[in-house]
Amino acid sequence: ILPQKGIDEVREDVEKWAEQKSAEIELLKQNEAYRKEFLQNLAHEFKTPIFAIQGYVDTLLNGAIDNTEVNRRFLENASKNIDRMVNLVEDLDEISKLESGEQPLYKENFVIQDLIKEVFETLSIKTAARQIKTSIKKGCEAPIMVFADKEKIRQVLNNLVVNATKYGKNNGSIVASIYKTDGAHVLVEISDDGIGIAEEHLPRVFERFYRTDRGRSRNVGGTGLGLAICKHIIEAHGQTIHIRSKIDVGTTVGFTLATKRN
Ligand code: ADP
Repeated sequence: ILPQKGIDEVREDVEKWAEQKSAEIELLKQNEAYRKEFLQNLAHEFKTPIFAIQGYVDTLLNGAIDNTEVNRRFLENASKNIDRMVNLVEDLDEISKLESGEQPLYKENFVIQDLIKEVFETLSIKTAARQIKTSIKKGCEAPIMVFADKEKIRQVLNNLVVNATKYGKNNGSIVASIYKTDGAHVLVEISDDGIGIAEEHLPRVFERFYRTDRGRSRNVGGTGLGLAICKHIIEAHGQTIHIRSKIDVGTTVGFTLATKRN
C-alpha cells in the first residue's frame, strides 16, 4: 500500500494540473484566433479580384461589350485578376502542403551558384522589362556545393528575386552573395536597391498574408505568402532565414544552407 499523500503534496498536484490545463486552454484559444485571422485574410485577399472581375463582366454585359475598344481592355483586366486568384490558390496549396508536413525533402548535392544563375535566367524577362541587372557578387563565384532540396531552394530563390524585382527600382540591381560561414554551412543573400521596408514591418514580413502598405500601393500583384513559403522551406531544412532593410535604400534576405555531404 502506497503511503497517503500529505495535504501539501495534494495541493501541489492540483496546482500543477490547473496550470497545465490553463496552458492548454490558452493554446486552443490562440489556435482559434489564428484560424479566424487566417480565414479573414483569405476572404479579404479573394474579395479584391473577385469584385473586380464582377465589375468588368457586369459592365460588359450591360452594353460595354459592343464597344470593341472597351471590351478588350475590360477582358484584359478581368484576366489579370483571374491570374491573381490563380497565384493565390497555388501559393495557398503550397503553404498548406508545407504546413501539414506532407511534402518530404529530396536532398541532393548541387552547386548553389548554378541554381542562382538558372533562376536569374528564368526571370530575365521580368528583370529586363525594368532594366534591372542581376549578378553574383564579385568574390562569391567560386562554386560551392550545398546539400538541400534543389527544387524547393529554387522556389525560395525565385520568390526572393521576384520580390527584389517587384519592389526594386527601374535600372536597379539585384545581387546574390554566397559566403561560407563555417565548415558546414553557407549563407546565401539576395539584395536589391529598391523601395525597402520600414523597420516596424520587418518582424512581420514572414507572416502569411502580411504586406506593407508601401508594398500594396505598388500594385505589383502578390499574395503576401511568398516570404512565408520561403521561411517554411528553409526551416524544414533546419536552417534560418532573416531580412534586413532600409527604406529607399534596399532589402537583403539571407538564408543558410548545409554544405555538401559525402
Ligand atoms: P508579396 O506577395 O506581397 O510580395 P511576400 O510574402 O513575398 O508577399 O512579401 C511580404 C511583403 O514584404 C510584401 O508585400 C512587401 O511589402 C514586403 N517585401 C518583400 N520583399 C521585399 C523587397 N525585396 N523590398 C521591399 N519590400 C519587400
